[in-house]
Amino acid sequence: MATASGAPGPVGYLVNHPGGLAGVQGIGYDYVLGSGGLYVQSESAHLTARVIVASCEVRGLAPVADKVELAHGPIPARLFEFGLRWFQDDPGTERFFAVRWDGRAYRLVVPEQEGTASSLTYTPPAGVVAEFHSHGSSCAFFSKTDDGDEQGFRIYGVVGRLDSDRPELSLRVGVYGHFAPVEWPQVFDGPVPGVRLTGEEPDSNEAREKEVTEKCPTTWTTRSCWTTPG
Ligand SMILES: [Zn+2]
Repeated sequence: MATASGAPGPVGYLVNHPGGLAGVQGIGYDYVLGSGGLYVQSESAHLTARVIVASCEVRGLAPVADKVELAHGPIPARLFEFGLRWFQDDPGTERFFAVRWDGRAYRLVVPEQEGTASSLTYTPPAGVVAEFHSHGSSCAFFSKTDDGDEQGFRIYGVVGRLDSDRPELSLRVGVYGHFAPVEWPQVFDGPVPGVRLTGEEPDSNEAREKEVTEKCPTTWTTRSCWTTPG
C-alpha cells in the first residue's frame, strides 16, 4: 500500500536493508526495522534516541544500533544531587523536578505541584530534557500511572526508598510511549551521588509486576503511583 503523495506524516516507517535505509521519515518519530527487530527513533533539539521496541531476528536486513545522546552533553550530576536533596527534605511527600536547557546551561525546573505520600499532581513543563519524581519510601519503579504520564520524548527518572541510607534511582528514555532503560553515564557527568541504580526494567508488565512483588513485598498494597498520579 503506497501513500498518495509520499509526503512525511507524523510517524515514519523505515527498513534497514544491507544497501541502506528505505522508507519515509516521520516528522515526530520513526519505526525502524532491522536485523535485530523493531526500533523507534526520534530527534529533538535536546535529545536523539533510538531504542528497541521488539526484539526478534529479521533475516536479510542490516543491524540497527541503539543510541541515546543529549545534544548539549550530559547533565551535571550536581543538578541531580540538588534535586535529590530536595526529595530527601520531605521523604513522605512525592515531589517532581525537571531539567531544562536554557540555551547556555542546564537548569532545574520545579513547577507548581501538589504531592501526598502516594500521589502527585503537577503540570509537566514543556521543552525539558529530563523529568524526575520521587516515590517516598516505595521502591524506584515506573508505575502504570508513570507510563501514562510520561508520553513525551525525554529522559525520565524515579527515586524511591527515600527513607533509607541509600535511595534508589531508575532511569529510562521515553520515546512517545516507548521506553528503554538508560545508564547513569548516558545522562549525567560525574559520579553517582549516593543512590543505588536499579537494574534494567523488565519489558513486560507481567515481568515488572513480578519484580515489584519480589522486591517490594511490604509495599505491594501501599506503593505509590500505581493507582494514583505521580
Ligand atoms: Zn511514579
